[in-house]
Amino acid sequence: MKKFIASIAVVLVALPLFAKVPVIGISGYVDGSKNMVNVTYTNAVRLAGGCPLIIPVTTDDAQIEAVVSSIDALIMTGGSDFDPLLYGEEPLRANGDIVPVRDCFDIKLVRAAVAKGLPVLGICRGEQVLSVAFGGTLWQDIPSQIATSTVKHRQSGTPGSYPTHTISIEKGSFLYKALGNAEKGVVNSFHHQAIKDMPAGFKAVAMSSDGIVEAVERIGALAPEYKDGGNVIMGTQFHPEALSTGKDSPFVKVFEILVAKAAAGC
Ligand code: MN
Repeated sequence: MKKFIASIAVVLVALPLFAKVPVIGISGYVDGSKNMVNVTYTNAVRLAGGCPLIIPVTTDDAQIEAVVSSIDALIMTGGSDFDPLLYGEEPLRANGDIVPVRDCFDIKLVRAAVAKGLPVLGICRGEQVLSVAFGGTLWQDIPSQIATSTVKHRQSGTPGSYPTHTISIEKGSFLYKALGNAEKGVVNSFHHQAIKDMPAGFKAVAMSSDGIVEAVERIGALAPEYKDGGNVIMGTQFHPEALSTGKDSPFVKVFEILVAKAAAGC
Protein backbone atom coordinates (compact mmCIF):
# COMPACT_ATOMS: atom_id res chain seq x y z
CA MET A 1 0.00 0.00 0.00
CA LYS A 2 2.80 2.38 0.89
CA LYS A 3 4.45 1.61 -2.42
CA PHE A 4 1.18 2.25 -4.22
CA ILE A 5 0.70 5.61 -2.47
CA ALA A 6 4.31 6.52 -3.21
CA SER A 7 3.89 5.78 -6.91
CA ILE A 8 0.66 7.83 -7.04
CA ALA A 9 2.56 10.69 -5.42
CA VAL A 10 5.35 10.37 -8.00
CA VAL A 11 2.80 10.51 -10.81
CA LEU A 12 1.07 13.55 -9.29
CA VAL A 13 4.38 15.37 -8.85
CA ALA A 14 5.71 14.38 -12.26
CA LEU A 15 2.56 15.11 -14.30
CA PRO A 16 2.77 18.91 -14.27
CA LEU A 17 6.47 18.74 -15.17
CA PHE A 18 5.84 16.60 -18.27
CA ALA A 19 2.64 18.39 -19.25
CA LYS A 20 4.52 21.63 -19.84
CA VAL A 21 6.29 20.53 -23.03
CA PRO A 22 3.97 21.39 -25.93
CA VAL A 23 3.77 18.80 -28.71
CA ILE A 24 4.42 20.38 -32.09
CA GLY A 25 3.14 18.33 -35.04
CA ILE A 26 5.30 18.48 -38.17
CA SER A 27 3.82 17.48 -41.54
CA GLY A 28 5.78 14.73 -43.26
CA TYR A 29 6.13 13.49 -46.81
CA VAL A 30 6.93 10.16 -48.43
CA ASP A 31 10.23 9.49 -50.20
CA GLY A 32 10.18 6.03 -51.76
CA SER A 33 9.34 3.69 -48.90
CA LYS A 34 10.21 6.17 -46.13
CA ASN A 35 8.26 8.76 -44.12
CA MET A 36 10.42 11.88 -44.14
CA VAL A 37 10.96 15.17 -42.29
CA ASN A 38 14.22 17.12 -42.39
CA VAL A 39 16.02 17.05 -39.02
CA THR A 40 16.30 20.84 -39.11
CA TYR A 41 12.56 21.06 -38.29
CA THR A 42 12.73 18.71 -35.30
CA ASN A 43 15.92 20.40 -34.08
CA ALA A 44 14.39 23.88 -34.29
CA VAL A 45 11.31 22.77 -32.33
CA ARG A 46 13.54 21.29 -29.61
CA LEU A 47 15.71 24.41 -29.47
CA ALA A 48 12.51 26.37 -28.87
CA GLY A 49 11.39 24.09 -26.03
CA GLY A 50 8.77 22.02 -27.87
CA CYS A 51 8.45 18.29 -28.46
CA PRO A 52 8.37 17.49 -32.19
CA LEU A 53 5.92 14.88 -33.48
CA ILE A 54 6.24 13.83 -37.13
CA ILE A 55 2.90 13.34 -38.90
CA PRO A 56 2.93 10.76 -41.72
CA VAL A 57 1.00 11.46 -44.92
CA THR A 58 -2.62 10.32 -44.85
CA THR A 59 -5.81 11.50 -46.53
CA ASP A 60 -8.07 9.75 -43.99
CA ASP A 61 -10.23 12.33 -42.20
CA ALA A 62 -10.48 10.31 -38.98
CA GLN A 63 -6.69 9.88 -38.81
CA ILE A 64 -6.19 13.60 -39.37
CA GLU A 65 -8.75 14.42 -36.69
CA ALA A 66 -6.99 12.05 -34.27
CA VAL A 67 -3.65 13.70 -35.00
CA VAL A 68 -4.82 17.30 -34.53
CA SER A 69 -6.40 16.23 -31.23
CA SER A 70 -2.98 14.99 -30.08
CA ILE A 71 -0.87 18.07 -30.80
CA ASP A 72 -0.63 21.60 -29.39
CA ALA A 73 0.56 23.34 -32.57
CA LEU A 74 1.33 22.49 -36.19
CA ILE A 75 4.23 23.16 -38.54
CA MET A 76 3.60 22.68 -42.27
CA THR A 77 6.88 21.89 -44.03
CA GLY A 78 8.51 22.65 -47.38
CA GLY A 79 8.41 20.50 -50.49
CA SER A 80 7.11 20.10 -54.02
CA ASP A 81 4.73 22.35 -56.00
CA PHE A 82 0.97 22.26 -55.56
CA ASP A 83 -1.34 21.22 -58.39
CA PRO A 84 -2.40 24.63 -59.82
CA LEU A 85 -5.91 23.27 -60.51
CA LEU A 86 -6.38 23.36 -56.72
CA TYR A 87 -6.29 27.17 -56.87
CA GLY A 88 -8.14 27.49 -60.15
CA GLU A 89 -5.27 27.83 -62.64
CA GLU A 90 -4.12 25.81 -65.62
CA PRO A 91 -0.63 24.41 -64.98
CA LEU A 92 2.20 26.29 -66.67
CA ARG A 93 5.08 24.29 -68.13
CA ALA A 94 7.34 25.77 -65.45
CA ASN A 95 5.23 24.38 -62.60
CA GLY A 96 7.21 21.58 -60.98
CA ASP A 97 6.32 17.97 -60.24
CA ILE A 98 3.17 17.55 -58.17
CA VAL A 99 2.30 14.94 -55.54
CA PRO A 100 -1.53 14.79 -55.37
CA VAL A 101 -1.66 12.68 -52.19
CA ARG A 102 0.52 15.16 -50.31
CA ASP A 103 -1.50 18.10 -51.67
CA CYS A 104 -4.64 16.49 -50.25
CA PHE A 105 -2.95 15.63 -46.93
CA ASP A 106 -1.51 19.12 -46.44
CA ILE A 107 -4.78 20.89 -47.22
CA LYS A 108 -6.86 18.62 -44.97
CA LEU A 109 -4.30 18.77 -42.14
CA VAL A 110 -3.93 22.55 -42.05
CA ARG A 111 -7.70 23.09 -42.32
CA ALA A 112 -8.29 20.62 -39.46
CA ALA A 113 -5.66 22.31 -37.27
CA VAL A 114 -7.05 25.79 -37.93
CA ALA A 115 -10.61 24.55 -37.28
CA LYS A 116 -9.39 23.08 -33.98
CA GLY A 117 -7.88 26.43 -32.96
CA LEU A 118 -4.27 25.26 -33.01
CA PRO A 119 -1.45 27.74 -33.67
CA VAL A 120 0.08 27.08 -37.10
CA LEU A 121 3.43 27.91 -38.70
CA GLY A 122 3.79 27.23 -42.43
CA ILE A 123 7.27 27.16 -43.98
CA CYS A 124 7.97 27.47 -47.74
CA ARG A 125 5.42 25.07 -49.32
CA GLY A 126 3.89 25.25 -45.83
CA GLU A 127 3.31 28.99 -46.30
CA GLN A 128 1.93 28.33 -49.78
CA VAL A 129 -0.58 25.82 -48.38
CA LEU A 130 -2.02 28.61 -46.22
CA SER A 131 -2.94 30.31 -49.49
CA VAL A 132 -4.12 27.18 -51.36
CA ALA A 133 -6.17 25.85 -48.41
CA PHE A 134 -7.89 29.13 -47.53
CA GLY A 135 -8.81 30.65 -50.89
CA GLY A 136 -5.64 32.33 -52.23
CA THR A 137 -3.42 31.58 -55.23
CA LEU A 138 0.29 31.11 -56.04
CA TRP A 139 2.80 32.32 -58.57
CA GLN A 140 3.56 29.05 -60.37
CA ASP A 141 7.02 30.19 -61.41
CA ILE A 142 8.48 33.54 -60.35
CA PRO A 143 11.30 33.72 -62.98
CA SER A 144 9.01 33.21 -65.99
CA GLN A 145 5.92 35.04 -64.65
CA ILE A 146 7.42 38.16 -63.06
CA ALA A 147 9.88 39.86 -65.40
CA THR A 148 10.70 42.54 -62.81
CA SER A 149 11.82 39.97 -60.25
CA THR A 150 15.60 39.76 -60.36
CA VAL A 151 16.32 38.45 -56.86
CA LYS A 152 17.82 34.96 -56.74
CA HIS A 153 15.13 33.02 -54.88
CA ARG A 154 16.79 29.67 -55.49
CA GLN A 155 20.14 29.96 -53.80
CA SER A 156 22.86 27.56 -54.91
CA GLY A 157 26.29 26.66 -53.62
CA THR A 158 25.44 27.64 -50.04
CA PRO A 159 23.81 25.60 -47.26
CA GLY A 160 20.38 26.40 -45.85
CA SER A 161 22.00 27.89 -42.77
CA TYR A 162 23.45 30.67 -44.96
CA PRO A 163 21.09 33.60 -45.65
CA THR A 164 21.31 35.04 -49.20
CA HIS A 165 18.77 37.84 -49.73
CA THR A 166 17.28 40.66 -47.70
CA ILE A 167 13.66 41.17 -46.68
CA SER A 168 11.78 44.15 -45.30
CA ILE A 169 9.58 43.35 -42.33
CA GLU A 170 6.28 44.88 -41.22
CA LYS A 171 6.45 46.64 -37.85
CA GLY A 172 4.58 44.79 -35.12
CA SER A 173 4.39 41.49 -37.01
CA PHE A 174 5.37 38.15 -35.49
CA LEU A 175 8.57 38.21 -37.53
CA TYR A 176 9.40 41.77 -36.45
CA LYS A 177 9.04 40.71 -32.82
CA ALA A 178 10.90 37.42 -33.33
CA LEU A 179 13.91 39.22 -34.79
CA GLY A 180 14.08 41.80 -31.99
CA ASN A 181 11.97 44.57 -33.58
CA ALA A 182 13.88 44.33 -36.86
CA GLU A 183 12.54 46.05 -40.00
CA LYS A 184 15.14 44.28 -42.16
CA GLY A 185 16.47 40.76 -42.23
CA VAL A 186 18.54 38.42 -44.35
CA VAL A 187 17.07 35.02 -45.14
CA ASN A 188 17.77 31.85 -47.10
CA SER A 189 15.74 31.13 -50.24
CA PHE A 190 14.79 27.83 -51.88
CA HIS A 191 11.68 28.55 -53.92
CA HIS A 192 10.42 29.44 -57.38
CA GLN A 193 6.81 29.91 -56.25
CA ALA A 194 5.18 32.31 -53.77
CA ILE A 195 1.77 33.59 -52.71
CA LYS A 196 0.10 35.68 -55.44
CA ASP A 197 -3.45 36.49 -54.28
CA MET A 198 -3.59 36.68 -50.49
CA PRO A 199 -6.40 34.64 -48.91
CA ALA A 200 -8.98 36.49 -46.80
CA GLY A 201 -7.79 37.11 -43.25
CA PHE A 202 -4.08 37.14 -44.10
CA LYS A 203 -1.54 39.87 -44.69
CA ALA A 204 2.00 39.90 -46.13
CA VAL A 205 4.37 40.90 -43.30
CA ALA A 206 7.70 40.55 -45.12
CA MET A 207 8.76 41.15 -48.72
CA SER A 208 11.94 40.76 -50.72
CA SER A 209 13.14 43.80 -52.70
CA ASP A 210 11.37 42.51 -55.85
CA GLY A 211 8.00 42.47 -54.09
CA ILE A 212 7.75 38.73 -53.47
CA VAL A 213 5.86 37.76 -50.29
CA GLU A 214 8.35 36.31 -47.82
CA ALA A 215 6.15 36.06 -44.69
CA VAL A 216 2.44 36.21 -43.88
CA GLU A 217 0.27 36.17 -40.81
CA ARG A 218 -3.41 36.07 -39.98
CA ILE A 219 -4.86 39.50 -39.23
CA GLY A 220 -8.58 38.72 -39.30
CA ALA A 221 -11.33 36.25 -40.09
CA LEU A 222 -10.85 33.61 -42.77
CA ALA A 223 -13.38 33.34 -45.61
CA PRO A 224 -16.69 32.08 -44.15
CA GLU A 225 -16.49 28.67 -45.87
CA TYR A 226 -13.56 27.65 -43.63
CA LYS A 227 -13.95 26.53 -40.02
CA ASP A 228 -11.85 28.86 -37.92
CA GLY A 229 -10.73 28.19 -34.36
CA GLY A 230 -9.23 31.68 -34.26
CA ASN A 231 -5.62 31.04 -33.24
CA VAL A 232 -2.41 32.55 -34.65
CA ILE A 233 -1.38 31.52 -38.18
CA MET A 234 2.11 32.43 -39.41
CA GLY A 235 3.97 31.64 -42.61
CA THR A 236 7.46 32.15 -44.02
CA GLN A 237 8.57 31.63 -47.61
CA PHE A 238 12.14 31.20 -46.31
CA HIS A 239 13.32 28.41 -44.00
CA PRO A 240 13.77 29.63 -40.39
CA GLU A 241 14.42 26.04 -39.26
CA ALA A 242 17.53 25.81 -41.46
CA LEU A 243 18.74 29.15 -40.03
CA SER A 244 18.19 27.86 -36.47
CA THR A 245 21.63 26.33 -36.03
CA GLY A 246 21.84 26.87 -32.25
CA LYS A 247 19.96 28.21 -29.26
CA ASP A 248 21.30 31.71 -29.96
CA SER A 249 20.24 31.78 -33.62
CA PRO A 250 17.73 34.64 -33.97
CA PHE A 251 15.31 32.56 -36.04
CA VAL A 252 14.74 30.15 -33.12
CA LYS A 253 12.50 32.93 -31.82
CA VAL A 254 9.98 32.17 -34.61
CA PHE A 255 9.59 28.68 -33.15
CA GLU A 256 9.55 30.06 -29.59
CA ILE A 257 6.50 32.15 -30.54
CA LEU A 258 4.78 28.99 -31.82
CA VAL A 259 5.73 26.98 -28.71
CA ALA A 260 4.51 29.78 -26.41
CA LYS A 261 1.18 29.91 -28.24
CA ALA A 262 0.98 26.11 -28.04
CA ALA A 263 1.62 26.21 -24.29
CA ALA A 264 -1.09 28.83 -23.85
CA GLY A 265 -3.68 26.35 -25.15
CA CYS A 266 -6.79 27.29 -27.04
MN1 MN B 1 13.08 34.27 -51.37
